[in-house]
Amino acid sequence: MQQKDIVIIGAGAAGLTAAIYACRSGLSCIVLEEKMYGGQIVNTGEIENYPGMPGVNGFDFANALHQQAEGLGAKIQFSPVTAISKSDPWFYVETPNTTWLAKTVIAANGAVHRKLGCEGEEAFQGKGVSYCATCDGAFFKGKDVAVVGGGNTAVEDALYLSKICREVHIIHRRDQFRAHQVSVDQLLAAPNVKVHYQTQVRKITGEMRTEQLVIESPSGTEVLPVQGVFVAVGLAPNNQLFASLCNLDETGYFIAGEDCCTSCEGLFAAGDTRIKPLRQLVTAAADGAVAASMAAAYIGKKEWM
Ligand code: NAP
Repeated sequence: MQQKDIVIIGAGAAGLTAAIYACRSGLSCIVLEEKMYGGQIVNTGEIENYPGMPGVNGFDFANALHQQAEGLGAKIQFSPVTAISKSDPWFYVETPNTTWLAKTVIAANGAVHRKLGCEGEEAFQGKGVSYCATCDGAFFKGKDVAVVGGGNTAVEDALYLSKICREVHIIHRRDQFRAHQVSVDQLLAAPNVKVHYQTQVRKITGEMRTEQLVIESPSGTEVLPVQGVFVAVGLAPNNQLFASLCNLDETGYFIAGEDCCTSCEGLFAAGDTRIKPLRQLVTAAADGAVAASMAAAYIGKKEWM
């Protein structure tokens, strides 16, 4: 068993920022990450709305953040968290190889891609169905693809793909996008993007790989010949591990306010994983800073033996 002041779960913008603040406060911390550092931001091409860094590439941003945290002494262990429990005041955070004994835990575990739930989605995942345009877009160079969704991710993915693919269909179930207007304007101006409003995806079909997308709109059913379908219908929290420790809302997000405090003393929630009005890079980073500062204050006021 290894002991730390703070165990941070997730190496996205919130988790790495928390690590920066923890290290600068002289606290010991470990960041546990199941996949790759950077979180959602590595899936973003150009970031236009992070203050002071217009146009920075998502992957470069994630690298810089990682280097900054490591430069200050933060360590990342690439490993899933399998269980979390508390025997007051200590937390036990289990990974396959180590149990971490922690004074505080910062859950910065983000959210996972929501599924469309239509026929063929699961069967063709990795065979034309993707949840990350910047990761997989290059495989569809010169081909016809569809993007499903109407938020910022869908609109930005469609724009990104319009520069690589021959034709991009964007399928949205409403009659207007909920993405930022500046991106919507760019999308509507792209010559090879076809927008399908008030349209639902019914089926993804093909032999070995994706070949067609069956869609339905008020004007009837249509079959689009596409080789790729990029699903961008939002994110959902993945907080089952914490359900017995603290209060989650009905959709599974941590109930935690601007101070990132959860209903469990010593457990903080930062970034996309908690209820919040705006899930963006800047708000995730801000949460990481707040959570680490609140954790430091909590550690300082408690007796530890
Ligand atoms: P989102 O904002 O939750 O949008 C999800 C979209 O998918 C909505 O248009 C929704 O339609 C649609 N949808 C959901 N379930 C569907 C289904 N079963 N079938 C068809 N359509 C479905 O998700 P997001 O775009 O991934 O963004 C997640 C968060 O990251 C947001 O807070 C977003 O602002 C942020 N983000 C920001 C930026 C940026 O600032 N540049 C970039 C990317 C993401 P309805 O509208 O009908 O619900």
